[in-house]
Amino acid sequence: MSAPVLGSAERGAVAPEPARYAFGEFFTEHMVTAAWTREEGWHPAYLRPRGSLSMDPAMVGLHYGQAVFEGLKAYRQADGATGVFRAHDHAERFQRSARRLAMPELPTDTFLRAVDELVASDAGPLPDDPALSLYLRPLLYASEPLLALRPAHQYQFVMIAFLTGGFFADRPDPVSVWINRDQSRAAPGGTGDIKCAGNYAPGYLAQQRAASAGCQQVIWLDPVEHNHVEEMGGMNLFFVHGSGSRARIVTPPRTGTLLPGITRDSLFTLAARLGWRSGEERLSVDGWREACRSGAITEAFACGTAAGVTPIGTVHDGTTSWRIGDGGPGPVTLALRSALTDVQRGRAADPGGWIRRVTAAARAH
Ligand SMILES: *Cc1c(COP(=O)(O)O)cnc(C)c1O
Repeated sequence: MSAPVLGSAERGAVAPEPARYAFGEFFTEHMVTAAWTREEGWHPAYLRPRGSLSMDPAMVGLHYGQAVFEGLKAYRQADGATGVFRAHDHAERFQRSARRLAMPELPTDTFLRAVDELVASDAGPLPDDPALSLYLRPLLYASEPLLALRPAHQYQFVMIAFLTGGFFADRPDPVSVWINRDQSRAAPGGTGDIKCAGNYAPGYLAQQRAASAGCQQVIWLDPVEHNHVEEMGGMNLFFVHGSGSRARIVTPPRTGTLLPGITRDSLFTLAARLGWRSGEERLSVDGWREACRSGAITEAFACGTAAGVTPIGTVHDGTTSWRIGDGGPGPVTLALRSALTDVQRGRAADPGGWIRRVTAAARAH
């Protein structure tokens, strides 16, 4: 079965129901590809119709996981153009991920040109509906068909895109989270701080356990003591201390075992713009529970490119559970969420080179 692709018949159609666009299902018509070989380095990148890539059964990327990816989004701007959020920063993180797995780094300008070409050609079906965005998925994998235990000599870069929506409801539903006390998402000195192919699958079992405990998401703790809160699998965490103008937002420090999110970084800037102090601070599970009981912590939320800012309502830890604030989305969470979507959609001033504007391709489809 191949993935559904939004055909040209859909272009200019009536704005679809945001709920129709589940994450990672509705791909656009094109992709950008580029190969790398040890002899010649990077070959030219080009835009072509989206389709299957051939694969030798001995392909290194599949066997040994020498593969890295990124996730960034394009949004319809207030003036009708399309803007890609922090593309340059995603290009740099893509290089950092590649370096860690001894892979060739895609030059920043090639990454940005791929973004421009794919968005210019395929952002057409992106309607003005603020619930929708175009998610870009760059991927780099070892394509050499040889199973020696050494970095491959051939690689393939591909960038695909899909329409996604549903995450930006005006009043987001808080999620319930389940604390994983025994497994680890990442190890010290390992690959927890990059986006590599092994990022998510090791968390699926925990996700199933969370679901059977009635929770939507897993909270990962530090891998050494299993005591300090780190992140939520595909999203970083923030905690709000206090309220009103005296609120302070804190997030776990970059220990090397959490992924330094670009949304996380963006929220430091936006918190300052809203007059709130922010910083990095360790928080133990007991500390979290006690601070919720005493009222010191008033809100908690997760953040990432895919789902933006998502409030956390309740926490389950073994046989104990507690509510954060009144269990609903808090005012600081909602204000930061609006500040972020306003910048992403060109409704608020760009803090500095965050929005890469792309104009639609002149060619007719
Ligand atoms: C991608 C990712 C995030 C969020 O990063 P953003 O740059 O904000 O999208 C957080 N945690 C993990 C494990 C991730 O893979």
